[in-house]
Amino acid sequence: MHCPFCRHPDSRVIDSRSTEDGAAIRRRRSCPECGKRFTTQETVLQMVAKRSGVTEPFMREKIIAGVRRACQGRPVDEDALALLGQKVEEAIRATGAAEIQSHGIGLAILGPLRELDEVAYLRFASVYRGFESIDDFEKEINALRGRDSPE
Ligand SMILES: [Zn+2]
Repeated sequence: MHCPFCRHPDSRVIDSRSTEDGAAIRRRRSCPECGKRFTTQETVLQMVAKRSGVTEPFMREKIIAGVRRACQGRPVDEDALALLGQKVEEAIRATGAAEIQSHGIGLAILGPLRELDEVAYLRFASVYRGFESIDDFEKEINALRGRDSPE
């Protein structure tokens, strides 16, 4: 790894330790050229398996982009989207899985999105739960109504 200060192409590891939760390793590095020190972190890269069979690293920005589309025209600001992205990333990280199905990502989005905006939630759910008819929407809307008025 190159030095972030002087771009020297090599660095030396002077200390290496696990984070408290054991989910990452941090390395303290020193640059032999300029002598400055910096820290790197190694974590498992969680991969998303898409329906096409392709896998790609989990990226919070992709989650946010997908939800932003579902939120078009809705009173949802960028801060709320960022917070939702963070919640989904935490949920995915908490699974500890090295590979997650893209469908599982969609399901992880549904809960926080329902809290954020019900119309955007319905749009999103119609895709991820594969709504095939008006009945599917009706059931989901009834479930939302039931949640709002528990009697
Ligand atoms: Zn350097």
